[in-house]
Amino acid sequence: MENNDKPLSTDLPKISEKEFDEVIKLAIKTYGKEAQTQMLFEEMAELQNALCKLARNRGTADQVCEEIADVMIMCLQMAQIYGSKRVEQWANRKMLRLKDRLKHDTSTEAQG
Ligand SMILES: [Mg+2]
Repeated sequence: MENNDKPLSTDLPKISEKEFDEVIKLAIKTYGKEAQTQMLFEEMAELQNALCKLARNRGTADQVCEEIADVMIMCLQMAQIYGSKRVEQWANRKMLRLKDRLKHDTSTEAQG
């Protein structure tokens, strides 16, 4: 596996949180909900492909990272469409549930 700690390019500016949100909203406004939903499907397939290639030693972790970023960007657009606050609430609920399960599973594992 290669070194993923090095930045892709030092000449790229870091996008601000405000700009990030504006681009997410503009993408939806420009291309529409249906097109962006289709794009999410494509990006999920690309991530699946990158993970499969990595498992067969035909790809790199960096390619996986790139596709994770694409899927995250599309998911953020979906959240914007369907309700970012609601997604945040669901994510919080699910993380708390995972935390509880891990507490249980790590304690039973320690006993076993
Ligand atoms: Mg992609």
